Amino acid sequence: MSNAEVPRDPQTFVLWREAQDTRVRTRLGGIYYLLAWLLTWLFSANPTELLAWGLVGAGLFALLLALRLLHRLPAQETPQALRTWLDRHWGLVLLTALAWGLVHAWSLNDPAFASSRLIATLSTIAFSTAMAFNFSMRKGRASVALLLLYLPGLVALAMNWREQQAILITLACYLSYLLLALNRSHREYHNTLTLELKLLEQQQRLDLLSRTDSLTQLGNRYQFNNLFPALVASAQRQREPMSLVLLDIDFFKRINDQHGHACGDACLSAFAERMRQVFRRGSDALLRLGGEEFGVLMPNTPLEQACLLAESFRQELTREDFHVQGNSLPLTASLGVGCFDPQRDDSTEAFYKRVDAALYQAKGAGRNCLVRA
Ligand code: GH3
Ligand code: MG
Ligand code: MG
Repeated sequence: MSNAEVPRDPQTFVLWREAQDTRVRTRLGGIYYLLAWLLTWLFSANPTELLAWGLVGAGLFALLLALRLLHRLPAQETPQALRTWLDRHWGLVLLTALAWGLVHAWSLNDPAFASSRLIATLSTIAFSTAMAFNFSMRKGRASVALLLLYLPGLVALAMNWREQQAILITLACYLSYLLLALNRSHREYHNTLTLELKLLEQQQRLDLLSRTDSLTQLGNRYQFNNLFPALVASAQRQREPMSLVLLDIDFFKRINDQHGHACGDACLSAFAERMRQVFRRGSDALLRLGGEEFGVLMPNTPLEQACLLAESFRQELTREDFHVQGNSLPLTASLGVGCFDPQRDDSTEAFYKRVDAALYQAKGAGRNCLVRA
């Protein structure tokens, strides 16, 4: 099970898990209903006399089996689609249980099945046991299925109370055990599911933590290393422009030297917050690449547009000082901006170097300015 396939939303995850389990566990069952009917029929006193019924029964269980196997999980894994799939699939399971319950009752009542009704009774016990343990995801529905499997037979036995009381009492005792077992199995299933859900949430939280810079809450270098080549590749595939802005705060060492490291940290946080206010598109990825150096990855953005936005950010920095820990600090930044160009950049590293060189030029040109790569 790869992580990409697992739905991230908890509600969808629970339904997805249940649908997967239901699908896996339902595959085998259908075959045995068909087999049980064939055995009950073929070992009856005179199968040829019951030929028409034999074929109708075989056809019915074969049809139910085919419907189960053909009922594929929805391509769209939305809660609604999964719920509908589960409802329909349970419809098939309940229908099969009812069909078998009636077959069992018939075999108990009809003298033609005197020699094979034991097969039907044993099969009923096997099917209901499998139901209690394999379909415990839904307690209510599984209980109904157990009753559908069992009750017709119990009624048939009750109608012949004098001769069949021993079997009737034994089957009724076993049914009560199955209902208790279903209850426990249901609890265990959901405990495991809750545990799995917690694990998934923890995994997602750890994943987010590993990609987030703890001081600024922007993406970190690790996130950049993953995202940058992926976005460049996607831009090349879609033939869309993809821009990169690199920013480095000017003379940041002085802030630390004059006001202390804690004040420097607060400045970095405030700087990130200003970035969030200017680079607001959902598709832009804002990152702290290390120290006082930041980056913005802008998919589907041509150079002109990226430069305009980056320049507006540079001006925004000069418009108002940073108010940090009781100090009013002017902060400026130097920026390099580039757009990926497959003619010039033969790799993502080459593209990065080109933009980094532009940032270096901006520093050389006196800082607080923007240079196009
Ligand atoms: P320039 O304009 O050339 O970029 O000058 P600068 O002082 O910004 O650059 P330099 O590379 O000389 O110094 C970067 C400083 O950033 C030095 C370092 O102490 C500080 N710094 C890096 N990471 C952090 C951090 O996480 N917190 C704080 N408070 N300071 C940091
Ligand atoms: Mg700097
Ligand atoms: Mg630097």
